[in-house]
Amino acid sequence: MTDRPRLTTTAGAPLSSNQNAKTVGRNGPVLLEDYQLIEKLAHQNRERVPERVVHAKGWGAYGTLTVTEDITRYSRAKVFAKIGGQTEMLARFSTVAGEQGAADAERDVRGFSLKFYTEEGNWDIVGNNTPVFFVADPYKFPDFIHTQKRHPRTNLRSATAMWDFWSLCPESLHQVTILMSDRGIPVDPSRMNGYGSHTFSLWNDQGERFWVKFHFKTKQGHKTFTNEEAEKVISKSRESYQEALYGMIEEGRFPKWDFFIQVMPELEADEFEKKTGWSAFDLTKVWPHADYPLIKVGEIELNRNPENYFTDIEQSAFNPSNVVPGIGFSPDKMLQGRLFSYPDAHRYRIGTHYESLPVNKPRSPVNHYNRDGTTPFGLRTNPDAYYEPNSFGGPVEDPSVAEPPHRYSGEVGRYDYRGEADHYSQPRALFNLFDDAHKQRLFATLAGAMQGVPQFILDRQLAHFDKVDPAYGAGVREALARQGKDDAQASLTTSHAAAAE
Ligand code: NDP
Repeated sequence: MTDRPRLTTTAGAPLSSNQNAKTVGRNGPVLLEDYQLIEKLAHQNRERVPERVVHAKGWGAYGTLTVTEDITRYSRAKVFAKIGGQTEMLARFSTVAGEQGAADAERDVRGFSLKFYTEEGNWDIVGNNTPVFFVADPYKFPDFIHTQKRHPRTNLRSATAMWDFWSLCPESLHQVTILMSDRGIPVDPSRMNGYGSHTFSLWNDQGERFWVKFHFKTKQGHKTFTNEEAEKVISKSRESYQEALYGMIEEGRFPKWDFFIQVMPELEADEFEKKTGWSAFDLTKVWPHADYPLIKVGEIELNRNPENYFTDIEQSAFNPSNVVPGIGFSPDKMLQGRLFSYPDAHRYRIGTHYESLPVNKPRSPVNHYNRDGTTPFGLRTNPDAYYEPNSFGGPVEDPSVAEPPHRYSGEVGRYDYRGEADHYSQPRALFNLFDDAHKQRLFATLAGAMQGVPQFILDRQLAHFDKVDPAYGAGVREALARQGKDDAQASLTTSHAAAAE
């Protein structure tokens, strides 16, 4: 025997061989009673959990939130209670459309999910590297995602489906412009901003509520790839983000982001809508900085790589529904949809008690009456207090953490502010931030992404670009014409080459 630990079965019994199957004679068939072989093969079949339908490819690390400013006037959340206060956190970044084997440096929106293990429970921000999204209504979310995934018959991604959908949903124009701009391919997760994107709320000790947007600005500076640079990276490595994030943390170059909020007093939301025509809860629109300036909260730093990618990152489960006293929701329709769909995805993927898995387990005490079901790790409740109310010392509610009532009112209906709102001014403000060279890259990227799309769909989308700015539509038309010529030239060259052979 060596001083190495003894190999055991999953039930803890010592094992005499992990090399040779148990057979009848030297060449005989394997016996069913070689249970450990069966266990080993069966385990292998179960090594994967279903990958996420969206945001399947991800990279993550642990870190720290440090509060540097006092925002207790807006929120009573303990995580913000004192300047200098630190909270352990986890971040997971991801692409949206690609499967787990997809290349990292692809043009796509990036997920930017954060879990803060606060002393009053987990607070999750399940954001993106963009402040807006393609759609504003949860009815549209599964359809939108279908357009980003594989065509049922060809099993290929379909530019026609994407542009058909986008051109029929003009509220997507803002996000499409960001995606196709230089910011569409960050070089690695540390070189991009993160946004909570949705409107959430904060509430303070006096019971006042404020609408809030969360912003995380990279301290490493933005750095992005052109399409050509990204193609070169992908041809060498599909794992460039994992390599970069893991490598910088191993080397002690810890990536950091400044954490800001934008705050809107609760009663100002109606006024904002009257003044601008945009709902303060429309996920396809931002709140202009000039009206709602960024207020510093603190800094996040990622400083610890996971010990085990599967248990720490693949099994991490971020829910926008995870808020803590002092932080609340808003009527943002997409947020309301995600409050259901995210935890439901985790129940399906990793089990009913996914929040008792080590990576998701709150660092604060957990006491509830949900019983049994899959993976109830650590559910050691008082055996007599398995219902509520009870007389046997089970956990009781704490009315002091009740959030102030929301002031929602109105008639029940299916409202379509998608159809009513101005979907062009905000993309225009963004377009006007780009210099000429950036605009040319935007046009070329769009034209490239539109190859093979039927003309009637192109015309519908070009009309939207025209409404943002005639120069936007004209630029894309020119780029399409140029690419058409290049393609014709390429096929001419190919056929000449073929003829010469
Ligand atoms: P400002 O002129 O005050 O700020 C412009 C914002 O745009 C900055 O946050 C900047 O981020 C960001 N930005 C610059 N280039 C890009 C890009 N290619 N993709 C995405 N974001 C980019 O903005 P306003 O508040 O007046 O809004 C103008 C437009 O800026 C909006 O319509 C929106 O498209 C965009 N924007 C606005 C944000 C907001 O919350 N108000 C947030 C992000 C974008 P950085 O400082 O990191 O360079």
